[in-house]
Amino acid sequence: MYDYDLLVVGSANADLVIGVERRPGPGETVLGSDLAVHPGGKGANQAVAAARLGARAALLARVGDDGYGRLLLDSQRAAGVDTVGMLVGGAPTGVALITVDPSGDNSIVVSPGANARLTPQDVRAAASLFQASRVVSAQLEIPLETVVETVRSLAFDSRFVLNPSPAGPLPAEVLAACDPLIVNEHEARFLLGDSAGPAPEDWARALLLRGPRSVVITLGAAGALVAEGSTTSSVRVESPRVDAVDTTGAGDAFTAALAWRLSLRESLAQAAAFAARVGAAAVTRQGAQDSFPTADEVFAR
Ligand code: AMP
Repeated sequence: MYDYDLLVVGSANADLVIGVERRPGPGETVLGSDLAVHPGGKGANQAVAAARLGARAALLARVGDDGYGRLLLDSQRAAGVDTVGMLVGGAPTGVALITVDPSGDNSIVVSPGANARLTPQDVRAAASLFQASRVVSAQLEIPLETVVETVRSLAFDSRFVLNPSPAGPLPAEVLAACDPLIVNEHEARFLLGDSAGPAPEDWARALLLRGPRSVVITLGAAGALVAEGSTTSSVRVESPRVDAVDTTGAGDAFTAALAWRLSLRESLAQAAAFAARVGAAAVTRQGAQDSFPTADEVFAR
């Protein structure tokens, strides 16, 4: 019996957002809107998304001993995430400095801060969390060696879900543990390079040859594609039609929802169909964590 449906191993950032008429050039200063500060980072987002759906979720992450670190701890607790695995200190909290222009385009500078100090040793010290977790998810906003240690720390029959974002190279040991590997078009093309074929079905087949047990490719409004190593064909999953307002965090909501449904022992296709509904709900509201739906909201649509 597992205490947690989902353990997320990943990043926690403060997103500092300023609206600008135009971006400053070198040596230039421009005035912007009032500052908005939001809890973010892919790990923190996934944990909140899962907890909001009703999952028993925990987050293994590192924040600084500062105000942004406290903001992140508070927002996790408010969503119902178990923060026993949140480590404090070693560097300032990770920050994303985001400017948004009138057309909605972002320019972002990320200071990884404490996220870069989440070490393999931190993962080993959290062995009891791993033993208590049915599904473990990770992304790539923490050091790769920490992700490697994560797959080495999985409980005997727990399941590992990876969203390799931001896109980066993956060792064979990590790929082999993924069940599924969840990528968007950009990440699929990065991993496949010139060998990517024309269609998502081709990418799924080619990605499976790299070793993951299963693959999910997210396709924005077009939903997702699911492929498992045990079968040769892939399955398309529809996303409900919605009026998209802000797609920030949709991928994190999708991944968290899918991981949670896998912990309930749904099939990958069933879990992806539910996750597509969660992703679609998330794009109908502004923001990342603020946009994540409850399970009731998903089922009511
Ligand atoms: P993405 O990472 O953009 O592919 O989005 C992840 C998931 O969120 C997709 O697989 C969809 O289920 C959902 N999603 C994203 N954008 C939209 C949209 N414009 N309309 C409906 N669903 C969406």
